[in-house]
Amino acid sequence: MKKDTKEIILKGINASPGICIGKAYRVDREGVEVVEKYQIQAHDLPKEVNRFESAVKKSRDELLGILEKSPEELQHAHILETHLALLKDKMLYGRCIEMIKQENINAEWALKTVVSNLKDIFETMTDPYLKERSADVVQVADNIMRNLMGAEKVNIAAIKKRVILVAHDLTPAETSQINLERVKGFITDRGGKASHTGIIARSLEIPAVVGLKTATSTIHNDDLIIVDGNTGIVILHPTEDTLVQYEERKINYEEYKAVITREGKAPAESTDGVRLAVMGNIELPEEVFAVISYGGDGIGLYRTEFQYFNRNDFPGEDELFDKYKDVVEVMAPKPVTIRTLDINGDKAVNNRILSEEANPALGLRAIRYCLKKPQVFMDQLRAILRAAAFGNVRILFPMISTYFELCEANRMLDRAAESLEKDGLPYKRDIQIGAMIEVPSAVIMADVLAQKVDFFSIGTNDLIQYALAIDRGNEQVAHLFQPLDPAIIRMLKHVADVARENDIKVFMCGEMAGTPYHIPLLLGLGIDELSMNPQTIPDIKRVIRALNVADTRSFIKEVLTQTTARSAFKLIKATYGSILSEHVYSE
Ligand code: PEP
Ligand code: MG
Repeated sequence: MKKDTKEIILKGINASPGICIGKAYRVDREGVEVVEKYQIQAHDLPKEVNRFESAVKKSRDELLGILEKSPEELQHAHILETHLALLKDKMLYGRCIEMIKQENINAEWALKTVVSNLKDIFETMTDPYLKERSADVVQVADNIMRNLMGAEKVNIAAIKKRVILVAHDLTPAETSQINLERVKGFITDRGGKASHTGIIARSLEIPAVVGLKTATSTIHNDDLIIVDGNTGIVILHPTEDTLVQYEERKINYEEYKAVITREGKAPAESTDGVRLAVMGNIELPEEVFAVISYGGDGIGLYRTEFQYFNRNDFPGEDELFDKYKDVVEVMAPKPVTIRTLDINGDKAVNNRILSEEANPALGLRAIRYCLKKPQVFMDQLRAILRAAAFGNVRILFPMISTYFELCEANRMLDRAAESLEKDGLPYKRDIQIGAMIEVPSAVIMADVLAQKVDFFSIGTNDLIQYALAIDRGNEQVAHLFQPLDPAIIRMLKHVADVARENDIKVFMCGEMAGTPYHIPLLLGLGIDELSMNPQTIPDIKRVIRALNVADTRSFIKEVLTQTTARSAFKLIKATYGSILSEHVYSE
């Protein structure tokens, strides 16, 4: 009998593309919610510490067990390794033991307090990627807590029917038990695009919508749901009409994806024979595999901030070198563009290293920070030059706003090479040097900056923020964050023209480069290389193959006459709508 239920649409974040339709299966974690505080007698403290250590050991054994069974090529293996490392981390493990001993309290309470303090540090960060790393600490702590309290474990491996998982959140350990034969997709209340749940969903290539907030309070076991990972929509109790519509969309999307992925490895060559490099942006070294599997021509942006995060010290040269070398070797002979440290602004690291700023986006950020901390910068520059000996490395300086900064950065690079020479360490100095063009002053000074670099890389995320005075992280003004604003288009044209006149290359690694309907414009402007989220690569390659570069060059003249972002968009749609995908994942 048909249930008397109304169709409900829930809007979340599209974490992994694809569409699935099926019965909901709730994954509830029990037993770790209520934690009590109690005192431990001095003579019982060693026992309490021991109890904590056993719970940590049990968590470690569980993770190792899962890792052993995980196929190596799965991206999320590295997340489990991160969790293993966190189990030994001073800030988590060390601090808990210290607290038990110093405050004579039970292990559960110490763990809860330490995690809550760490979460507070993460919460102050505005960069979504870094912010979501707090989920790792919480998930690791949840596991230890479960073992401390003997609570029940979520057993995803035991699921017997084909379902869609509905959870408040899923840990990497839980998601790695997902059996692709049984689980069609998953949705969670928590998380964002850059959360590990999202990363894993993409590596498993199953549809996922995260950040739904109310999924677990609205959806019950066996409810029929549709998950649209392309748009971030979940439909509960769909009507017959909606079901038919989504069955059709699902078939279309799957056919489309099969075709573009098959073609993904082939070069992106326009109908008039112009070849463009389509590269991947990565934050974690392990993401290099996604770039390869989606047919990326190299790494156009390696954001190196991640290694500096979640610690009270700075990573040393050797530690940085090891990570860079891994990426460079895997990618060789394809290029890896290592961007030097871009912390502060929206990428605050932690309270101990950095001071508070009233206006961080305009503060001691990126290259300004590095020039003020020469030792931190020098360690990174040396690590990059050493890694360059193992493949094809380019170096990229972020947030360049003056000629002086670029000269200083280059001078430091020379000094790094000289010191490596003196130390007798293998390195390569003859690498391409680039400047991020993401501050309006750099656009205006592009002809001068061009004298000091081999390439420009346009960072539209910041360029739009600084040129239009729109905080890139503020949802109140998000509707004004328009890459097609005529002011932005004119700036892009200026940078591309200057690069051509000075015989240097111009790349783009901001989000604008990974959006299909911007591609006719970027080709018309003469951007030489585009870099984006790895999953978007096949789609963008497909669009490039359908375009004629000579036509886009004439088209650009018309775009430049537009006076609003809306009219520019309409013009692109009217001219190129038929070749642009309706499955726009990155939007
Ligand atoms: C940009 O600003 O466009 C960019 C690519 O850098 P980030 O997003 O890391 O600031
Ligand atoms: Mg930037």
